[in-house]
Amino acid sequence: MTEIKMNSTAQWQARDARHHLHSFTDPGLILEQGSRIIVRGEGSHVWDSDGRKILDGMAGLWCVNIGYGRTELSDAAKAQMDRLPYYNNHFQSAVPAMIELAERLAGLTPAGLDHFTFANSGSEANDVIVRLARYYWKLLGKPGKRTIISRTLAYHGSTVAGVSLGGMPAMHGMDNGTLPEFAHVEHPHWYVNGGDLAPADYGLKAARAIEEKILELGPDNVAAFIAEPVQGAGGVIVPPETYWPEVQRICRAYDVLLIADEVICGFGRTGAWFGSQTFGIEPDFMPMAKGISSGYLPIAAVALHDRIFDVIAKGGLWPHGYTYSGHPVSCAVALANIEIIAGEGLVERVRDDIGPYFQASLQALADRHPLVGERRGVGLMAALQLVRDKATRTVCTMEDNAAILTREACYADGLIARAVGQSMVLSPPLVITRGEVDELMEILTRALDGTARTLG
Ligand code: PLP
Repeated sequence: MTEIKMNSTAQWQARDARHHLHSFTDPGLILEQGSRIIVRGEGSHVWDSDGRKILDGMAGLWCVNIGYGRTELSDAAKAQMDRLPYYNNHFQSAVPAMIELAERLAGLTPAGLDHFTFANSGSEANDVIVRLARYYWKLLGKPGKRTIISRTLAYHGSTVAGVSLGGMPAMHGMDNGTLPEFAHVEHPHWYVNGGDLAPADYGLKAARAIEEKILELGPDNVAAFIAEPVQGAGGVIVPPETYWPEVQRICRAYDVLLIADEVICGFGRTGAWFGSQTFGIEPDFMPMAKGISSGYLPIAAVALHDRIFDVIAKGGLWPHGYTYSGHPVSCAVALANIEIIAGEGLVERVRDDIGPYFQASLQALADRHPLVGERRGVGLMAALQLVRDKATRTVCTMEDNAAILTREACYADGLIARAVGQSMVLSPPLVITRGEVDELMEILTRALDGTARTLG
């Protein structure tokens, strides 16, 4: 095995700064402060180049569901590479690993979602859905149905279509330089947006914003509505219970396709194989990535409902494909990953054991800590809303910088957590133990105490 030649942290940082433009990073910070160099992982922990052990409360980027260091996946990759490192699914070709993966996924997805197209990332998966949704309506003789409605604070990827679907103004320049025929409605966060309404009433109001947008655009111009079952990167926003049933009613009433983005929620994170199952959603399209391979190799898939596939199948040549759609090695790794999730009962573990333990631990912290106004989450994804005043639901301000201060304190103390707006966000590997949840809680509590002292 080739060993990575170890440098000192300072050497890695200097080499990194010289040649690497990082994702979602201010290049100035890399030049000034250097990057964090992560060299190894095992279970729920990673190690940095100074040998420091760090609890990964984010499972990488919400993706390392089975945890680090599972050699079953490297074995599967090697076996597939030795047998057939590459072939494609273009021009009527297929490879057994692709066939097996599509079949396996069909057994896990909600009823009717039985056809799959492959991609390499969640962004690419959403790109192809934009194409497929419009193509579907064109084949049905409604070529005007092209606009896709998304939500504020949505994240659906970084390709041009992904950015256009996204709803984070600072990140994506929403409605400014992105593609036409994308629209946005309010994200359903009761604590911040709900005002005096009860959560159930606010859920209906947030759903009806979609109806208003459809009527404003004209139903004949709207192809689809896209949303994550739980909005992840936007801050783990769990909608009120009334939201999803009403969204589905509206989509059906106006012939608007429903896209449930499962890139984060899929593969056990919410305590079901898919977030759509947790929330009773019956989507037309389901993009999935991240947990499909636990991030060990890049791969994404899009589930198409039979009613969509049946129309596409009559359209003649579908002119779309990536060189690496359904890459055999990625498919083999995804299959091995799914076997671990299924074989070790990780989905049930999240639903019945570690998920409730994790949420209850965070809730207990929220109940007693003056800085935490709301704990929200399901399964193993959660957020704590940082507030100035609990009674009035007054959230911290940008100037308070409370989430970033807390995130940095967590990291210094050995925990990776994420700061999203004025919230702390967590999404640990599905294999996290109760002891590790306790460790996470201790570090997080110390960090919040420090931030509370700073804010005074
Ligand atoms: N959709 C959602 C909900 C995501 O969270 C992400 C990435 O975080 C994407 C799509 C894009 O996936 P990728 O980064 O694999 O392109």
